[in-house]
Amino acid sequence: MNYYSLHHKSPKTTFKNAVVEGLAKDRGIYFPENITPLSKDFIENIENYTNNEIAYEAIKQFVGDEIPTEKLKDIIANTLTFDFPVVPVSENIGTLELFHGPTMAFKDVGAKFMAQCLEYFNKKNKEEVTVLVATSGDTGGAVANGFLGAKGINVVILYPSGKVSDIQEKQLTTLGQNITALEVDGVFDDCQDMVKTAFLDEEITKTLTSANSINVARWLPQMFYFFFAYKQLKKLNKEIVFSVPSGNFGNICAGIMAQKLGLPVKHFVASTNVNDTVPNFLKDGVYTPKKSKATISNAMDVGNPSNFIRIRELFNNDLETLKNAFSSFSFSDDATRAKMKEIHKNSGYVADPHGAVGYLGLEKYNLNENEYGVFLETAHPVKFLDVVEETLPVKVAIPPQIQKVINNNKVAIKTSSYEDLKRFLQQ
Ligand SMILES: *Cc1c(COP(=O)(O)O)cnc(C)c1O
Repeated sequence: MNYYSLHHKSPKTTFKNAVVEGLAKDRGIYFPENITPLSKDFIENIENYTNNEIAYEAIKQFVGDEIPTEKLKDIIANTLTFDFPVVPVSENIGTLELFHGPTMAFKDVGAKFMAQCLEYFNKKNKEEVTVLVATSGDTGGAVANGFLGAKGINVVILYPSGKVSDIQEKQLTTLGQNITALEVDGVFDDCQDMVKTAFLDEEITKTLTSANSINVARWLPQMFYFFFAYKQLKKLNKEIVFSVPSGNFGNICAGIMAQKLGLPVKHFVASTNVNDTVPNFLKDGVYTPKKSKATISNAMDVGNPSNFIRIRELFNNDLETLKNAFSSFSFSDDATRAKMKEIHKNSGYVADPHGAVGYLGLEKYNLNENEYGVFLETAHPVKFLDVVEETLPVKVAIPPQIQKVINNNKVAIKTSSYEDLKRFLQQ
């Protein structure tokens, strides 16, 4: 499969190069040249396939012959090591829980899949690759875990000191081996700027790549979730509406890809916190990126969502077609807390702030009686322990995978300027 840059100034490239480079030379993100729907027969009989088989059917055309079939099946099996249940919350609403993986955030699937693709492509190279990634919280842990022990790959994670939760910090600073954490004296944007500077710095001779959702190998596996939900809900005989708590819009864009592959989906709702660049765009047709604002659903604090350009491409850059299939609504922290309380009171379900934003999106969409709404629970409530325990009358039990890291010792290198990062990379 070939991929083209959405800035249209770089030549087309292979899946392998798109994974290894991350971003095209013209700084555009990559998009697959063709999207061929899966057979009707497959979709109509989806309940007879295992999750691994479904994932293989969904992804194989995007990998092409660049990874042998058996190897790709292994990569999928190593990625999908946990469940993706749809849990009913009210009569016509359920939640697709994506947090049963090793770091309890949905990014585990993309990180693990990408790590194995990169490891495979880099196998023949003598030279080591350095994955450089800035995190505001969840990405760091998922990438650290996904890449742990990957041969020929070193991972360097920059995180803002004091700005990630204790659990998130432990997840990215305690693994050791090929993972190094740099604790940056600054905010997330400073970490991001340092990473960008390093990519442009010609004096750095190491091969650098990134592991955020612009990378096609992190983005595309997220299609699987939507197929797994459909497989569980098909027997209801209702039209499905997905509400996806969105930050960089990679997850929801993968959902729309699944729909392009033939998955029956009635409508997509991109639910955001007050970082409302996309909801505003749908209202007035003008795309105005903003500086991000801090909220209680902080994994979605993004003012210029990097994947939205892929969504526009999927609808041929036509606003009217986009609006027929896709809505986007923004909600405040107060509304989010109130909804967490209401969900808990009515059903006993403990939603994290991101999930609650997703629920609000479904309500605003206003389901009819032939529709079933699914909001994605993108993280386990334990990852946002302070907010959840302040808001709800509950004590969240610490799951085993979190317990394991809490007891380990943090190791991080203090970093206060780009020069510190550069010195580290040149060692
Ligand atoms: C990353 C993340 C999101 C946002 O996902 P995008 O693909 O960037 O839109 C939402 N919720 C949680 C918990 C996350 O970690």
